[in-house]
Amino acid sequence: MSSIIKILPDHVINRIAAGEVVERPASVVKELIENSIDAGATELLIDIEEAGRRLIRITDNGSGMSKEDAGTAFQRHATSKIMDDTDLESIRTMGFRGEALSSIASVSHVRLLSAMKGATSGTLIEIEGGTVKGISEAAAPQGTTLEIGHLFYNTPARRKFLKSPATEFSHILTAVSRQAMAHPAIRFRLTHNKKGVLDLPPALSVKERVFQLSGGEIAENLIEFAGGRDGVYVHGLIGHPGSTRADKTYQDFFVNRRAVKNPSLTHALYSAYGDVLMRDRHPLAFIFVEIDPALVDVNVHPAKAEVRFRNQSQIHDLVRDVIREALRGMNVSPATTRADGVRESLSDYLQKIESSECGVRSSEYRNALQKTPFHPQNREMDYSPFPVSHDSHSELRTPNSELLHPLAQVHDSFIIAQSQEGMAIIDQHAAHERVLFEKLQDQFGAGQVPVQDLLVPDQIELGPAQSTVLAEYLPELSKLGFLVEDFGNDTYMIKAVPALLVGSDYRRLLLDILDEVNVHGKSEKMEKVRDEMLSVMACHPAIKIHRHLDLREMEQLLADLFKCRMPHTCPHGRPTVVRFSMDEIMRMFKRT
Ligand code: ADP
Ligand code: MG
Repeated sequence: MSSIIKILPDHVINRIAAGEVVERPASVVKELIENSIDAGATELLIDIEEAGRRLIRITDNGSGMSKEDAGTAFQRHATSKIMDDTDLESIRTMGFRGEALSSIASVSHVRLLSAMKGATSGTLIEIEGGTVKGISEAAAPQGTTLEIGHLFYNTPARRKFLKSPATEFSHILTAVSRQAMAHPAIRFRLTHNKKGVLDLPPALSVKERVFQLSGGEIAENLIEFAGGRDGVYVHGLIGHPGSTRADKTYQDFFVNRRAVKNPSLTHALYSAYGDVLMRDRHPLAFIFVEIDPALVDVNVHPAKAEVRFRNQSQIHDLVRDVIREALRGMNVSPATTRADGVRESLSDYLQKIESSECGVRSSEYRNALQKTPFHPQNREMDYSPFPVSHDSHSELRTPNSELLHPLAQVHDSFIIAQSQEGMAIIDQHAAHERVLFEKLQDQFGAGQVPVQDLLVPDQIELGPAQSTVLAEYLPELSKLGFLVEDFGNDTYMIKAVPALLVGSDYRRLLLDILDEVNVHGKSEKMEKVRDEMLSVMACHPAIKIHRHLDLREMEQLLADLFKCRMPHTCPHGRPTVVRFSMDEIMRMFKRT
């Protein structure tokens, strides 16, 4: 019998490798930026057309390549960065696998123009689907330009899996932003369809780079931290627990300036914040670990997106401790109080619930909010921003199996009520959120959103990533009652807002909505995205912990709650009511 096992030809191997290394246009961008950084470039120009499908062009002022090297660079496993396997133990460059250029070239058309310092001329190479179509001499400035066109032209399956141009471009923007953050001294420029998107001059620090990238809204809420032991150094920026996000967009980990995913680092971050974080809320964090390359294995993922530490738990604990220390400096003592065996006082506890009701409240924010003339506490109003129907009192008497009679309010936060079977405690914030949420759903369902024009349009400046999402969602937002105009340069004007939001911090709300939309993406049913938006909207004006309610207001709130379709949870899924039957109460007192 003849043998059936064959060694695959190189072009097939390259295509297989491309499957791992080149998942989408953003992966090409990432690999090419890494190569430019490794070549010592101080300036990078990245031009994208049609979200990378038509063109990805990266021009650097790095070392350039000789004619011989330029030819070899596209071969599989061709690299100038390691010589033998011992070098794998101490990788200081971004690349080392020698796979990127060969993989990319096997699924696209590539043009490379490169010249070394002092060379009289450069080299031009053209490759199609991995086959060299021509090599010639050409005039070129020092550095390298790589043009990738027709990406995935010969892999229709991959092409089909590409998402909308807006989504693919936002991945590219994220890839560029991450690299830019890790290398603040390098100048980055990014254009899309010939329009400038980013122009980041060399920055002195990561913080300055974050400011350039994300705008003041984000940067203001960040503090710098740093610390280390045993030769490992951790530094970066973290967000105040009051300014958490609905997604992890603003969360990046870098090990020796390489953006990585590492569950242990993520865990360290969340355990540093401890229980000051609400469920489904995420802290802003840009965390850099600087470590001897011999102590970390970067060769565990084809796209080098993961790392493994020799001493995982040591790094974990260091990161957790350094961040915890920084949080302590911010005066928001996380879970450690319990670990230390110190019981929190009730007022601390309530303070904590309040500051994290929906994860968006910091005390500064609350103070600022209280200064606005619209803040509920600054004007006489019912608990509800909706007109109270005066016959609703009689509705209370209608038979309702859920019937709860409020008796009192505890610490201006929870309502104690008598029920038919015993008693109940109601979380007033969660209950009101549910009521508002369903009213909003009904209003939007009926296409009647009362909108209020702002006398003075409110200007909002965003980072490029958020700006891209916002630009895409302007029509959706206007259906929700937000009239926002694009003023160019990532600046927007809020011209009108849903009427019931006048008085709450709709700027913050808008940012939260963008996060939510980002999490769920456009592919999700619009209904779901709308509900996410509504739940954020409902949370903002809902009555808070620490708000005194009189009996009539409590009755009204409970009546409204039990008119809801789903009265038992708030839109975030937390319970609104906890019930105790008489049986349970009797048992607690050992009467049965
Ligand atoms: P790796 O980066 O893992 O070495 P690549 O396939 O990405 O593998 O690149 C192959 C080689 O091509 C690199 O080792 C480097 O010598 C050279 N090279 C690639 N891009 C550049 C660039 N922009 N400037 C100079 N040399 C480059
Ligand atoms: Mg490389």
